[in-house]
Amino acid sequence: MHVDTYWHAFVSEDAMPIAGLLIDCRGGSERSVCGPGLRGLRGEVARVYAPGIGLSRPARLLHPRYPLYIAPKQDDHYVIGATEIEGEDMSPVSIRSALELLSAAYSLHPAFGEGRILELSTHCRPTLPDHRPALLWDGVSILRVNDLYRHGYMIAPEVARETVKLVNALLDTRVRDIDGFNTWRAS
Ligand SMILES: Cc1cc2nc3c(=O)[nH]c(=O)nc-3n(C[C@H](O)[C@H](O)[C@H](O)COP(=O)(O)OP(=O)(O)OC[C@H]3O[C@@H](n4cnc5c(N)ncnc54)[C@H](O)[C@@H]3O)c2cc1C
Repeated sequence: MHVDTYWHAFVSEDAMPIAGLLIDCRGGSERSVCGPGLRGLRGEVARVYAPGIGLSRPARLLHPRYPLYIAPKQDDHYVIGATEIEGEDMSPVSIRSALELLSAAYSLHPAFGEGRILELSTHCRPTLPDHRPALLWDGVSILRVNDLYRHGYMIAPEVARETVKLVNALLDTRVRDIDGFNTWRAS
């Protein structure tokens, strides 16, 4: 199969590349075509260096507002995340969120108090109302892969597998009309 790839290229909705089949995975920026249901959910994380703690597995913390985790990385680095705040605000991490993330780490192990903050960062997660991933076929040439929400890294392999299955089916012209598609989906 021949696939053209373009890196660092902005693609706008009114100038989509011409292709037999397009797989659109632009995250939250597909909102204009996926309807008002698709939204961004702000998440903030801290990356710290904290030697001497030796956590070897991710730890989940109970927090009244969002599930927080501390994920150990190489060389005594830890990622502490993540807040979950309605809105597509990409501004820098708020003081309250920074306090919550860092206090959570400090409450888990006092040695985090001597750690060093390497980075505080913000991003938005593409999210549909049911928080479940969705493959949306426009019935003509565009397949949109959406709503990985909080679990994008974790569920990406499964979503990719399902996408490949659907793409293979769509390349079979019998599946391209709505009856063929429904038959394929029911099979
Ligand atoms: C703070 C935070 C912590 C997280 N922690 C975890 C975690 O621990 N485990 C986990 O499984 N998931 C985690 N996630 C969720 C995960 O990051 C998302 O589910 C995942 O990134 C969504 O992937 P995506 O490819 O759909 O969208 P995105 O990651 O948003 O990727 C979309 C891509 O499309 C590009 N793009 C957008 N518009 C255009 C355009 N017009 N033209 C060309 N390119 C465009 C963007 O530059 C981007 O590269 C976290 C998210 C956040 C914000």
